[in-house]
Amino acid sequence: MWARVLLALVATLAAGAPTADAAVVRPPTGFPSLPQTVPSPHFVVHYTTAGDHATSPDAAATLSANAETAYRLIVETWGYPPPKDDGDGRTDLYIANLGTGAGAAREEPSLEQSTSWILVSTANLTSPYPIAHEFFHAVQMGIYAHEESWLDESTAEWAGQNVISALGMNAPPNWYDAPWVSLNCGWPGPCDDHDIGGYRGSIFMEYLDERHGMTLVHEVYTRAAQLGAGNGQAHSMPALSDALAARGSSVSDEFVGYALAASSGQINRLGVTSARPRVVNSLVTGTITGPLGPVPLVVDHLAFTNLLIMGQSRGTYVGACADERLSVEIALPPGIPTQPAFVSGTTITPLTITGGVARGVLPWSDCSSSTTTLVVPNGSTTADDQPFPVMLDVRLVNPVGESATPPTTPVTTLSVKARAGAHGKVTLRIRTAVAGKLTIKATTRRNKKTRTYATAKRTVKRAGTVTVVLRPTTTAARLLRTARKQKLTIAITFRPKTGRLRTVRVTTTVKR
Ligand SMILES: [Zn+2]
Repeated sequence: MWARVLLALVATLAAGAPTADAAVVRPPTGFPSLPQTVPSPHFVVHYTTAGDHATSPDAAATLSANAETAYRLIVETWGYPPPKDDGDGRTDLYIANLGTGAGAAREEPSLEQSTSWILVSTANLTSPYPIAHEFFHAVQMGIYAHEESWLDESTAEWAGQNVISALGMNAPPNWYDAPWVSLNCGWPGPCDDHDIGGYRGSIFMEYLDERHGMTLVHEVYTRAAQLGAGNGQAHSMPALSDALAARGSSVSDEFVGYALAASSGQINRLGVTSARPRVVNSLVTGTITGPLGPVPLVVDHLAFTNLLIMGQSRGTYVGACADERLSVEIALPPGIPTQPAFVSGTTITPLTITGGVARGVLPWSDCSSSTTTLVVPNGSTTADDQPFPVMLDVRLVNPVGESATPPTTPVTTLSVKARAGAHGKVTLRIRTAVAGKLTIKATTRRNKKTRTYATAKRTVKRAGTVTVVLRPTTTAARLLRTARKQKLTIAITFRPKTGRLRTVRVTTTVKR
């Protein structure tokens, strides 16, 4: 929260706030006098009980305790080095009225390993989270002080969230708003989700932590210090890449895995598991059968998108749930690391990739109970605007006129004969082996559009044969007069009192 705080200081104090490479200032020029202190083994809290920046001794003591908790976890438990010693072996914390901001500042901006001090807002003293985040910035600056904002913020956020998680508190799941923004889109950069710092990467860091342990971030900063020795430059992506390579992995592989894990609730930290990335695109297949698409998905480097596919809009009841199969094909951009997958709840079904095409098939229906999210990651560390055109195809599972998949549960015989009569009438003779309920829907297909021709419902009181007469709706009757004759597909769904739902389809041709 470094950049934000410096900006906040300009506004709050209206006096020479430091730029990134300004001379050492402690606290910043124009800062109020903070005569009171709370010393502790690893920190000194500076505060005042008077004026605009006033806070209470109790609140200052709470901040001190929270800072020591962060120190205990990050340094003593996780094994990170303490911040660089500024002379007394204690990090200075300054409490001021900053609005909601909180920030850590480098004290020796030109050095690769810098001492630092931390500003904390009077509004941010009670939660252990802000001070843990800022303290981690002080730790980072002691290892290497010149990394890019996205690496500094995503790892500080990861650390802060883990501190409060270790204390049994729920880490707020606020990072999934823009999965389409690249991981390392940071400040300054063309981010379009208002996350100018790159905080969103914290869940990626959490994923890496679960796979490689809490020391991985330390290894990234250590590597950054090696790469930056003598030049003071940022090497965030190469440092992350090298640290993962040392563990036999890569940024691309990890990012692709992360996209699927994040989308299926398989990142196990409190507050993250139940969160899901925002739905970016959605599509309802409805009663249409046949090809759909292409849906033109485009994905930037180290980002992902998704397509929520639904059999029917939520809350829409269409009667029979036709037994269907959904096939998806994506022509993959050459050379881009990816693994598209269907995600349904916590289940990941990866598409099979052969010859540059990803293919997948799912059982489907025209009801809202059929729903899946197609997740499409771009694992490239550089290539933006990559096209992933998605073609869909919905097919009925059973050829027309044949019975549905042989049931594995007790047989519920359902057989149907259809006879077309005058004026578009259709007589159905339906035989069932047990009592139950029939739902019937007849549709026509013209110009790639499926239209309802007739619907009916019937309760079957006992086994045997029932006769149902279908008559076209007013609209369907009018269309039939124009078309003279039409082919109907009639789906007959039988819900027996016990046993599995069965659907049978028959076709017939009606004449006006
Ligand atoms: Zn920060």
